[in-house]
Amino acid sequence: MRNLIATLAVLVAALPCAAQPADTLSDAVRQFVEVGEPVVALTGAQVVDGTGSPAASGRTILIRDGRIAAVGPDAEVDVPDGARVLNLDGHTVVPGFVGLHDHTFYMTRGRRVQLNVSAPRLYLASGVTTIRTTGAFSPYSELNLKRSIQEGQEIGPRMFITGPYLSGAGAMSQMFQVSTPEDARRVVAYWADEGVDWFKAYTRIGDEELAAAIDEAHRRGVRVTGHLCSVSFREAVALGIDNIEHGFFTNSDYVPDKQPGVCPPGVQRSLLEVDLEGEEVAATIREMVEQGVAMTSTLPVYELAIPNRPPLEQRVLDMLAPGARDEYLQSRADVASRDDAPMAELFPKAQAFERLFVEAGGLLAAGVDPTGMGGALPGYGDQRNYELLLESGFSPEQVIQIMSLNGARVLGEDERFGSIEPGKLADLVVIDGDPVRRAAEIRNVTLVFKEGVGYDAPALAESVRGLVGLR
Ligand SMILES: [Zn+2]
Repeated sequence: MRNLIATLAVLVAALPCAAQPADTLSDAVRQFVEVGEPVVALTGAQVVDGTGSPAASGRTILIRDGRIAAVGPDAEVDVPDGARVLNLDGHTVVPGFVGLHDHTFYMTRGRRVQLNVSAPRLYLASGVTTIRTTGAFSPYSELNLKRSIQEGQEIGPRMFITGPYLSGAGAMSQMFQVSTPEDARRVVAYWADEGVDWFKAYTRIGDEELAAAIDEAHRRGVRVTGHLCSVSFREAVALGIDNIEHGFFTNSDYVPDKQPGVCPPGVQRSLLEVDLEGEEVAATIREMVEQGVAMTSTLPVYELAIPNRPPLEQRVLDMLAPGARDEYLQSRADVASRDDAPMAELFPKAQAFERLFVEAGGLLAAGVDPTGMGGALPGYGDQRNYELLLESGFSPEQVIQIMSLNGARVLGEDERFGSIEPGKLADLVVIDGDPVRRAAEIRNVTLVFKEGVGYDAPALAESVRGLVGLR
């Protein structure tokens, strides 16, 4: 009996790795499937493959049983008899996005809401085929949602789950306030056993507590990222953290006389004053790169603190529940009416820091972080990343790589997905237009393939209109 159970456990564990054929999906999911055949050829497309290679036109991608079987010039890829052929002249295909700061909850000044219905659909509809939730308010919600999606009962991206936030005294009510290193070990051990993949340390965690959390997580094969303050970037790197969220905005390395384990006042001032070309910044970047600590860019959530940014989009307002829309517009008006806006000065500096990090060999990924003032929505904010990273000075091919393959690398899954290469899972975003030449066209997603199944992106988005901020 025990052997049988062990065998079953192995089989069950293997299932999520297998491609999900369209015919195992529930009716609720299947109503959004536009392409469900096992062999599909996408022809005549411009392809940006996610590896950083230049965009190439006149490409065919052959999908077989959920995986990419071939990709190359139209004339060189054999399309087998019986394949479903989609002529994508005038379209661009990029890898499914890997959103590394893609919460399943949403916040405005007035609400903190778990979006188990709208977030997964809007992520997938926007081309995000994998998320790491990077801070859970409701870890069991996330674990159950992940299982429902894997089993084909619900629709959404592939999910990597984080445990409860690990913070310190005075943290938000949804977070765990870690008091001792033993606390940290106990909670990490419990949630690692429950199946979370990552933990996220937050601004008030003590340095000894973070050290214990990292050690316990690594002993159990899970990893730790952080939205830091009490522990600076260099301090966290020395403790063995795996990933750091938000980049420059949260770095307390440059506060004079910073005490270990204490979030100091004056972080923003120190960031405005520090010289990006100086030794202090170079040391942060050098140590992160040497220790292989990745960084997650979340520019869309910080952009909201700049007056009149981003341009107001009707589709964002349409997607929001009426109350959430009012709260976002009120916050936006408040920002626009402020006399001083330090973010206007800080933001380009953070963009430059991310560029310096990449130039030094750092691994930069991206996510949306649908919190703050409520204007960076699941999925739509990930698309905004594309424009903001271009604004930072990266090439379109680099940005697509940051948003796809680099995220998969951070997750340790780049052999399995993240780029358009033979053998990888067929996670693909079909865009009507050419975002390489006209960035805004990144929004024109028509079809999203996850493991070879093509979903009708506009229909998926339409199904949650008015629900962001509600459920
Ligand atoms: Zn976050």
